[in-house]
Amino acid sequence: MKPVRQIAFGYSTQCNIRCGHCVASEASPETAKMELERAICIIQEMAGANVTGISFTAGEPLLFFDDICELIQICQEHGIYSRIVTNGYWAKTRENANRVVSELISNGLSQLRLSYSRWHQQHINHENILRAALSCQKYNLDYFISFVTDFSKKDDSLEQYLRAHHLKYFPEPVIYFGRAGKFDRQRVFTDYSPNLCSMNPYLTPELDMYACCDAASRFSETEFLYLGNLRNESIDTLFKKTENHVLYHLIRTMGLTNMASYLGFKASEIVEYRKCELCEKLFNSKENLSALTKSAATDLISWRR
Ligand code: SF4
Ligand code: SF4
Repeated sequence: MKPVRQIAFGYSTQCNIRCGHCVASEASPETAKMELERAICIIQEMAGANVTGISFTAGEPLLFFDDICELIQICQEHGIYSRIVTNGYWAKTRENANRVVSELISNGLSQLRLSYSRWHQQHINHENILRAALSCQKYNLDYFISFVTDFSKKDDSLEQYLRAHHLKYFPEPVIYFGRAGKFDRQRVFTDYSPNLCSMNPYLTPELDMYACCDAASRFSETEFLYLGNLRNESIDTLFKKTENHVLYHLIRTMGLTNMASYLGFKASEIVEYRKCELCEKLFNSKENLSALTKSAATDLISWRR
């Protein structure tokens, strides 16, 4: 059976707002953009490498509206599912929202993901998100709202706004990397969760590929998540690296919690970390990475109930 290949595609890191929690700010402090011709070739190569889903992300993709329309057309021609992650700045009026959504549909977009949080909404009126969602409903474009939250009471009114308008949304935990690295942590009370991660790769505008999109350059001590650059290696080769890496496989199937416990982390310590923080503790330490690598194919893989 062929593996499922999906990727977050960073066409540009340029954004028109500056959210206080932005992860992307640290991954690429300078604004970078891919050449359009290069992006077209890469998507064609991805189609040949059985990539079935592309999510256009990084900064604000729709700042490059015409380019992104061309890229989603290429996705459609090759049967690739396309998604755009946007802050909804363009939905300032109902007419604007309808025009943008209908153009995206006519170019073949599969799904729109609208970002929403108390940090985004310091820059973008929350009514933009409502207008964008209503336009998706009107024209039958699949959409959902990504409600980024630290689970504090401060976010209750934002969530209530989505509920009151019957919008489709999914809470997403804020990731304490990038600008959010300095935030106070809101305590969350959950059980001893396994912390599995599906690890969808991320391609930067500079053509570097990482094994996940949320941490890109964060693991600088070990470069654990870095796969390579498309100038030197093919898409297929870089995907194979993610598929054949034993520790990535264990992150997807065994989860970070069991790996931390195997390494000797106390249960009371493990529950204090958010998923990506625990991942960083495990894999951005040369000592821990070496211990996990040595045991990956032997003791660790059988560390199960
Ligand atoms: S979180 Fe998204 S919308 Fe906000 S600054 Fe970062 S890239 Fe822009
Ligand atoms: S848990 Fe690790 S692999 Fe998964 S998104 Fe976070 S940093 Fe990336």
